[in-house]
Amino acid sequence: MKIVVIGSGLGGLSIATMLARIGHEVVVLEQQARVGGCLQSFQRGDAHFETGMHYIGSAAPGEPLHRLLTALGVLPAVRLSPLYRDAYDIVRLGGEEYCFANGREAFLDGMLRHFPDARQALDAYVQTLDEVSAASSIDRLFGSATDEGQAAAILARYQAVSTDAMLDSLCADHPRLAAVLAGRLPLIAARRGRTPYLLHAFITSFYESSAWRIAGGSSQIAHALVQQIAQAGGQVLTRCRVTAITADSHGVTGVQTADGRHFVADHVIADCHPAVTLQLVAAGGSSMLRPAFVHRIASLEQTPACFVAYVTFRRNTVPYMPSNLFAYAGASPWQCEEYVADEWPKGYLFMPMCDADGQRYMRSAMLLSYMKWSDVAPWADTRTGHRGEAYEAFKTERADRLLEAFGHDRPDLRQHIEAVWTSTPLTYRDYNSTPFGAMYGTAPDCRLGVAARVPIRWRLPGLLQTGQCVNSHGILGTLIGAIQTALHIPSAREPLARMFGVE
Ligand SMILES: Cc1cc2nc3c(=O)[nH]c(=O)nc-3n(C[C@H](O)[C@H](O)[C@H](O)COP(=O)(O)OP(=O)(O)OC[C@H]3O[C@@H](n4cnc5c(N)ncnc54)[C@H](O)[C@@H]3O)c2cc1C
Repeated sequence: MKIVVIGSGLGGLSIATMLARIGHEVVVLEQQARVGGCLQSFQRGDAHFETGMHYIGSAAPGEPLHRLLTALGVLPAVRLSPLYRDAYDIVRLGGEEYCFANGREAFLDGMLRHFPDARQALDAYVQTLDEVSAASSIDRLFGSATDEGQAAAILARYQAVSTDAMLDSLCADHPRLAAVLAGRLPLIAARRGRTPYLLHAFITSFYESSAWRIAGGSSQIAHALVQQIAQAGGQVLTRCRVTAITADSHGVTGVQTADGRHFVADHVIADCHPAVTLQLVAAGGSSMLRPAFVHRIASLEQTPACFVAYVTFRRNTVPYMPSNLFAYAGASPWQCEEYVADEWPKGYLFMPMCDADGQRYMRSAMLLSYMKWSDVAPWADTRTGHRGEAYEAFKTERADRLLEAFGHDRPDLRQHIEAVWTSTPLTYRDYNSTPFGAMYGTAPDCRLGVAARVPIRWRLPGLLQTGQCVNSHGILGTLIGAIQTALHIPSAREPLARMFGVE
């Protein structure tokens, strides 16, 4: 079959790899000059920075992500560097620091040092992580498990309760522990009362066993996938913006691009944000999508957006830090996305970049804090590099505030910062077309249930949606979403099961 994939993010490149390998004629169309979407890394002088893939989990041999990346031909080509096992993540709350260690026993030991009376709560907590990780295993995607009903019930149960409600109930006698366990909120851009506990448990168990940086930059993952697609006879075209998904009365017929070309297709797979997919269908003139569906997808809330300061440290001054720091001004990690101007930043995430496994000094890192769209709305109609002086002044002022907060917590590191660049929600909106620059696309909401979900199969035959909005964001969530989407292609199940080693 002829398959067109719109967008070369992780979702688009991975599904293209799968489908090209099993014999389909695949072309990926990317609007930008570079492939990868959020997998793009960039250079400033000799320093490298990530845009959207800073660290990954479960990538030791035998672990789920290792298995997927190996099957897709990304590993061992891409080099990984382990984070510090005893403190891969550090949560700083109310002036105290709590370390998250890899490995179940080490994690529990670490937490029990701070909360010696919380054994029962911690045991109950890790049991929920185990339930979620078993229920969302790769093998289950292929329907090979016998206890399918039980797994579905577990996923439904944790999908229906919010992260904060579940943590508060598990840690009823230990509110500070609940705050610490929630403390890596930017990983899921969690909102109080809304973000399902399922997402918290899925992402937490993903990092629990092992955590890694991609040495030299995550764009290597994109390049490895492009190579796999080419080897399987597929194509990836850049600077090729899709402007319409064309259709007749039977379903999709292909896509139209900004340079006037028409690509014929039996299936169109959209890795772009679903709001973009809606626009492309409308531009193609199809009326097969029901107005209520169009309205629902167009009205979905988006995850919060962020401001990022990309910093370099003076050469050979600061030892490389194989950890991430999640820091908060107050004693709660919640609601940092809601602030009045003077309060910003209520929290930040500090992540050093890794150039090579075993590196001694830290050359570059990034500081990320939530930012409201309304802060940058005055420049919404401008484009990158042409937003004017007021915007530059705004960014400088915000970078100063972020660095001040960081300097308060880590004066030893702050004093060695050499240079600073910044990005805002506008930057993300313009480089991957995500509405309002939302970090992880549409926002899951436990109160709305399936009404907050983006389906893979749309009512226009031949059109499938993939990417971070269909399953969950992040490297594992997006890859699982790509497999779920690929399974909608007729006769794909068996060859894909073989590709991923499912019996
Ligand atoms: C700041 C930040 C930090 C993150 N950190 C991590 C992390 O440390 N670990 C982790 O696992 N995950 C992380 N993530 C999440 C992860 O990067 C994403 O979930 C994942 O990469 C999304 O992939 P995608 O394919 O769905 O979308 P995208 O990467 O957004 O790709 C979509 C692509 O579609 C293209 N496109 C859009 N419209 C068109 C069109 N009309 N025609 C052609 N092309 C089009 C875009 O240009 C883009 O290349 C982070 C995300 C952000 C924003």
